[in-house]
Amino acid sequence: MTTARTATTWTGVDPAHPFGIQTLPYGSFTTPDSPVPRVGVAIGEHILDLTAAATALLPEHAGLFAAGSLDGLLGAGPDVWSQVRSRVTEWLVDERHRPVVEPLLVPAAAATLRLPFTVADYVDFYASEHHAANVGRIFRPDGNPLTPNWKHLPIGYHGRSGTVVVSGTPVIRPRGQVRTADGGVTFGPTTRLDFEAEVGFVVGIPSRPGRPVPLAAAGRHIFGVCLVNDWSARDIQAWEYVPLGPFLGKAFATSVSPWVVPLDALRHARVAPPPRNPRPLPYLDDSGAEPWGFAIELEVSLNGHPISRPPFAGMYWTAAQQLAHLTSGGASLRTGDLLASGTVSGPRREQRGSLIELAWNGAEPLTLPDGSTRTFLADGDEVVITGTAPGPDGTRVGLGEVRGRILPAADGTTTR
Ligand code: MN
Repeated sequence: MTTARTATTWTGVDPAHPFGIQTLPYGSFTTPDSPVPRVGVAIGEHILDLTAAATALLPEHAGLFAAGSLDGLLGAGPDVWSQVRSRVTEWLVDERHRPVVEPLLVPAAAATLRLPFTVADYVDFYASEHHAANVGRIFRPDGNPLTPNWKHLPIGYHGRSGTVVVSGTPVIRPRGQVRTADGGVTFGPTTRLDFEAEVGFVVGIPSRPGRPVPLAAAGRHIFGVCLVNDWSARDIQAWEYVPLGPFLGKAFATSVSPWVVPLDALRHARVAPPPRNPRPLPYLDDSGAEPWGFAIELEVSLNGHPISRPPFAGMYWTAAQQLAHLTSGGASLRTGDLLASGTVSGPRREQRGSLIELAWNGAEPLTLPDGSTRTFLADGDEVVITGTAPGPDGTRVGLGEVRGRILPAADGTTTR
């Protein structure tokens, strides 16, 4: 028996680096001396200019990268995805390519990372049983924590793709209509601003209207994975969501990580999803199929202090099931569709993926190292979500980070 070894790269990047040769995520970047967007591949602390490298070494596919975003690659489909990934690996491993490739490595510190692809439709799901049950206990303390539909279908809502922003983009505290404690209705800056730590799945090739995408075809449509912070104004959300679901309370900003990790890099991270009871309808029944759980470990930091480590492996509904459900009624997919998992929460307190759960709707404030406490986010707070997953030979595949700082509401009003 032979063991597949992680190839060694002439770049000298440590295999323990989350962006080692095992990862090779795709993004879009500019540099001060060249403001034209280019597609890049992260390798250690550098970015390979793929737009330039493809022109020199992969001319038959160079057109896919000319516009400087991932849109062309996403739409090219799985055969091209694996071709490009194996060529990039070869360029970074084989010394013969070094003279051409090395000058195309840009220090990551000098680059500005952009939104990596044009977000087509954005759907946010609700796939963590622990999160859904926590929220149910907070808002419906006398009822069943899960709604009757929860274990029969992956609940989701259509979000606002136009306000999906790349990591590092400041988030302005939203204003909105809220119900006050005495039953009145007012308009003003949210006082219950929250984050949601999530994993996003990026759709590559489209599907045809009226043709559902079965579970087994998910891998042909889903290109890769990013990190998502689904910022949420809980007071606005609580007042507006009946009966049609979230609207403005989540529409002001959704942050994504700048690097999209291809599914191929996550093949060592695949795990079986948890057992489902009751058994889902046949179009959602993945028993015996290729597992679509991923052992991605998230970490959430608030102002540099780790406050949670949500485990993605326990998510009840997988991206393949979400895709199958989303298209089951005939809706088609577009290149650049973003399917976010829903808040990732584990069974333990320190695994909860939102502040409303961590501080239990304000009843159990978090204390930060500076002695201050939080029930929800304050102006100036910075939330960073990072993620890693198992790679080959004991390495870790990094998902990078999604970062965002809260700015005061538009009129300068501050809230704490
Ligand atoms: Mn969410």
